[in-house]
Amino acid sequence: MKLFRSIRWRLQLWHGLLLVLVLVGFGFTAWRLQQATQLKRVDQELERRIAVVAGAIRRGGGEPGRTQDRPPPRDRQPGRPSPVPPEIRLTPRDVSQFEGVSGSAFYYVAWLPGGGEISRSSHAPPIISCPSRGDERSEARTRGPFREYFHFTPAGDCILVGRDVHDELAGIRRFAWFLAGAGGMVLLLGLAVGWWVSTRALRPIAEISAAATKISTGDITQRIQTSDTSSELGELAQVLNDTFDRLQASFARQAQFTADASHELRTPISVVLTQTQAALARERTVTEYRECLAACQRAAQRMRKLTESLLTLARLDSGECPAIRELCDLGRIARDATELLRPLAGEQRVALDITTATTPCAGNAGQLGQVVTNLVGNAISYNRPGGSVHVRVSAEPGSAVLVVTDTGQGIASEDLPHIFDRFYRADKARSGATGHSGLGLAITKSIVDAHGGTIEVASALDQGSSFTVRLPVSPPRPELPEDPE
Ligand code: ADP
Repeated sequence: MKLFRSIRWRLQLWHGLLLVLVLVGFGFTAWRLQQATQLKRVDQELERRIAVVAGAIRRGGGEPGRTQDRPPPRDRQPGRPSPVPPEIRLTPRDVSQFEGVSGSAFYYVAWLPGGGEISRSSHAPPIISCPSRGDERSEARTRGPFREYFHFTPAGDCILVGRDVHDELAGIRRFAWFLAGAGGMVLLLGLAVGWWVSTRALRPIAEISAAATKISTGDITQRIQTSDTSSELGELAQVLNDTFDRLQASFARQAQFTADASHELRTPISVVLTQTQAALARERTVTEYRECLAACQRAAQRMRKLTESLLTLARLDSGECPAIRELCDLGRIARDATELLRPLAGEQRVALDITTATTPCAGNAGQLGQVVTNLVGNAISYNRPGGSVHVRVSAEPGSAVLVVTDTGQGIASEDLPHIFDRFYRADKARSGATGHSGLGLAITKSIVDAHGGTIEVASALDQGSSFTVRLPVSPPRPELPEDPE
């Protein structure tokens, strides 16, 4: 049933059940206490009168004023009736204790051990049977509207004193009804307060659900409106809002990335189209055809480079090509990669020198080679004729360090925070024309991050830049599954 799947209804049900249990327990205890107090008062009065009647029993012409607890005569067996029938002689003061309006007056009946009646007061109900003796000599009982107290004397006589307690019983019943009414009202009030509290407490859930529904329909700008941030649900709403913020930012980055990638591809595609259209427009000389094909080849190479970069980034993002943590020599990797770039440095008339020593580090040699290629390639490309590039690899406690320093154009301070962003180019006009797509440093940073290392840059305009990469010497410990204990 949908009703019982609702958290609010379930809370209300448990709350109601608990309330009923507490109220019934409390009401029953109060009712029993009231009943016991009322009957105890009556019992005390009955007990007093039992003593009066017991004291007035005269056996075999005994002296007046002796109590009924005197020992039976020696020649008489207990329980056997005395030869002289006993009688009850009450003083006028004693008699006054059994007088009053019939119905509220006390009465007594006394029986011989054999069950024969000795005496009874005038208000005694016509039908009263002699109680049978149990473990106790004195006991109280409620018989219909009467409360009676009986006592067995050592001689075996039974004295019963009673009174109509109709009024007391009615009072106890009234009290029970009062308790039931008050309990019902407290229950209703408790349920109403519980409903109000659960509604208030669960309101953020409704807001979360409404916001999540809107977001699921595509409106990622929606946020959960919650003023109460201190409660658990408020904290949850805050966490979800932060998650939605990150999701929105990530979607925006994704959209920007796609737009940038399309934009980058558009230029070489346009080159291919323009060149081919121009070549096909009329008959061309062999040299012209060659130039056209060379331009198309350059455009295709640029597209291949770009798609390779995009593919590398996508793989790094998805964790498809995780850094294989093998022990390698960063010094050797840097030397090999730098030597491959020496012809480019020669073309640009940039001096390239390298200082390395055997420097162990944990990583993927192929990916680390790409890091060196990207950094040294940039240091040559963004240099000036006659400038220099210095590559240094050294060991520091716990890490292997690669520093690439150049004497090139440098990076403006406003560009520094963005140079690791995808498709970011500080010098847009120049780097775009030379086929730089702004993905090199983004790939470099992704690789360094995947290796658990860090990359930093220091640069001054027209003075040069210095990139420092720190990689851990030992592979990070694999995460151990949590100990269940
Ligand atoms: P690109 O393919 O454009 O070189 P990168 O991601 O490698 O892309 O570099 C991002 C931008 O950072 C470059 O466009 C360039 O403006 C700047 N940059 C990178 N390295 C250097 C450097 N050594 N000297 C000056 N500017 C640099």
